Amino acid sequence: MSRWGGRLSQDIHQASLMAWFAEHQRDLPWRNTKDPWPILLSEILLQQTQVSRGIVFWQRLFERYPTVQDMAVSTEEEVLLLWQGAGYYSRARRLFQLAKLVCAPISEGGYNGHLPVTGAGLQSLPGIGPYTAAAVASIAHGESIACVDGNVRRVMARQMANATPTTKEVQEWADTVLWTKDAGNWNQAVMELGATVCTPQKPRCGGCPIASSCEGASSPLRFPAPKVRAKKRLDLMCIVLLDPDGRPHLVQRGNDGILASMWGPQMAEQLDVTSYEYVGEVHHVLSHRDLHVRIWKGSIDQGMDEGNVPLSSLDQKVLKRVREN
Ligand code: SF4
Repeated sequence: MSRWGGRLSQDIHQASLMAWFAEHQRDLPWRNTKDPWPILLSEILLQQTQVSRGIVFWQRLFERYPTVQDMAVSTEEEVLLLWQGAGYYSRARRLFQLAKLVCAPISEGGYNGHLPVTGAGLQSLPGIGPYTAAAVASIAHGESIACVDGNVRRVMARQMANATPTTKEVQEWADTVLWTKDAGNWNQAVMELGATVCTPQKPRCGGCPIASSCEGASSPLRFPAPKVRAKKRLDLMCIVLLDPDGRPHLVQRGNDGILASMWGPQMAEQLDVTSYEYVGEVHHVLSHRDLHVRIWKGSIDQGMDEGNVPLSSLDQKVLKRVREN
C-alpha cells in the first residue's frame, strides 16, 4: 500500500469511483467537449463562482466567444461587461490578456492562435495556475497530471484521516491515486465526489463509492480541521452624483485594487465629503475582504446610462441604496 495513496490507490477502489462518476456525474455543458477553450473558460469561471451561476456566465461568454480568437479581437470592456455579476473581475482581465497573447504570432512571443497542449505550457499563460493547467491538460488532452483543489483536499483528508494535510501531502496523494488510464475523467471524478457526496458539512458516506477505502468515514467532519481565516475589514467612502433623471456619474477605476477596471461612482479609503449629503452604509463580503462603504450623495448636470458599462455587485448595491434614500 502506498504511504500517500492509502487504499484508494488500489485498482478496485479507483474503478469503483470511475464507475460512479460515469453514472452520476452532473450534466455540465463543458463536459460535452474536448475543446480546450470552453474547458478553460469553465475552469476559470468556477474558481470562485458556484456551478449553478457559473453555467449562466459560461453560456454567455461561450456564445459570444466560441473560440479564443473571438475573444482576442474583442475589447477588455466588453469582456468585463459579459463577466458582470460573476465577481473577481481580475479573472476576466487576465483571460482577455491570455486570449491576446495566445493569438499573437510566434515571432511576437504568442502561440499563433493555439492554446498550449501541456500543463507546463498552459501555466506560462496569464492567470493560469497549477490547478487550471492540470485540469485543462488532463481533460482536453489526457495528460497524466493530477488536479488539486478544495474538493480534492477534503476527499484526501478524509480518505487518509489527516486533519491538517499540507499542500505537499495533498499533491503527493493526488499524484499517487491518479488513474493514468483516463486522467481527465479521474480528476473530474474526485472533484465531483467532493462537490456532491463528500461535501463539507453533510458527507453522504452511505452513498460513497470509495467508502471502503476511507479511513475517516467513521467521523468525516473531523477531517480536514477548519481553517481559521479572518476576513480583512476595509472601510471605504463613496460619493454618488446623480443627474435630474437619476442617472449616475460613473468613472472607470484604475488597473489595481479589488474593483480594478470596473466602472462605478467615486470610491476610495479617503474622500473629501464636506459638500455632500450622507446617505448611509452598505456592507459587502468578498472571500477575503469585509467591505464597509459609507455613502454620500450630490448632484450633477448629466450622468450616464449604467447599462452600458461593467458595474460590480458592490457598485450596484451602492446605487440601489442611494435611490432608496
Ligand atoms: S466515505 Fe465519507 S468521508 Fe470518506 S470519502 Fe466517502 S463521503 Fe468522504
